[in-house]
Amino acid sequence: PYDVLIVGGGPAGAAAAIYAARKGIRTGLVADRFGGQVMDTVGIENFISVPYTEGPKLVAHLEQHVKEYDVEVITEQKAASLTQGDYLQIGLESGATLSSRSVILATGARWREMNVPGEQQYRGKGVAYCPHCDGPLFKGKRVAVIGGGNSGIEAAIDLAGIVEHVTVLEFGDSLRADEVLQRKARSLANVEIIMNAQTTEVRGDGSKVVGLTYTDRTNGESKQVDVAGIFVQIGLVPNSEWLKDSGLNLTRFGEIEIDSRGATNIPGVFGAGDVTTVPFKQIIIAMGAGSTAALGAFDHLIRTPAP
Ligand code: FAD
Repeated sequence: PYDVLIVGGGPAGAAAAIYAARKGIRTGLVADRFGGQVMDTVGIENFISVPYTEGPKLVAHLEQHVKEYDVEVITEQKAASLTQGDYLQIGLESGATLSSRSVILATGARWREMNVPGEQQYRGKGVAYCPHCDGPLFKGKRVAVIGGGNSGIEAAIDLAGIVEHVTVLEFGDSLRADEVLQRKARSLANVEIIMNAQTTEVRGDGSKVVGLTYTDRTNGESKQVDVAGIFVQIGLVPNSEWLKDSGLNLTRFGEIEIDSRGATNIPGVFGAGDVTTVPFKQIIIAMGAGSTAALGAFDHLIRTPAP
């Protein structure tokens, strides 16, 4: 059995692996795909101390750093269950089981997509999911935000200070964001909010986004908005479906509830990164969370006798 088994190989999992291995304890990392969401990221400008890098390059550095230590890395394997016994057990989809004295869950999250033509083709070429990351790329340009929930309206307010104009498109007939956010967004001269708008297509010129098409759900009319960027803010889904029956406390959104040491409600089980209740989902924050969880796990191990 491992002392620490990390599930997930994104920034949170990689940081947890390095921090755990540096304690000289037996460390394993199992992941579906090493690198996680960072593999899908083009430019990264907010990884502090590195003014500019790109996703695959950062992932290569992460992998190299993990390999400096004695970490047993297993990739292309998906965890399917977490059970408790003498040891904690992670069941894999392949049928194998891994045992460990402590587990760090760092399976990340995925952005909900619109599933309309053009979205995949122009991903990273105008279609964006993270205003903190990509907002400054659209300085002085016109953008759209899809979704009128808290994250959509927060994004609109955030972007309004950087870009020329923001059009928010909400599918329903009212915004779902908190009243105070709605008030703030409505007070901004360069934010327009359109209700009952179903986005049907991302339009591009072959290399980048030039606009979008939506259907006005009140009369079925098709309309166009010319924008250089489209921020899709219709939900971030934690990769925690496989933990539903584990006894772990999840929020109604499926986020793993953790405390300030990364501990969950199950002794020895820790969580880190985008799959947890951490309020902000960013690379540098996930790395800090992974480090915290590893130190939390180590603290737990030195206080708990081995089975
Ligand atoms: P993830 O990166 O999601 O990694 C999850 C890991 O768990 C992966 O290895 C995955 O394969 C694995 N996994 C999932 N389920 C299972 C399972 N059942 N069994 C085994 N393994 C599993 N943040 C920034 O700070 N700056 C940026 O510029 C930036 N740009 C972004 C651009 C895009 C397009 C996207 C999608 C995100 C961006 N982010 C950016 C956000 C950032 O990528 C995430 O906050 C960060 O990757 C979260 O790290 P994580 O380790 O928690 O999860």
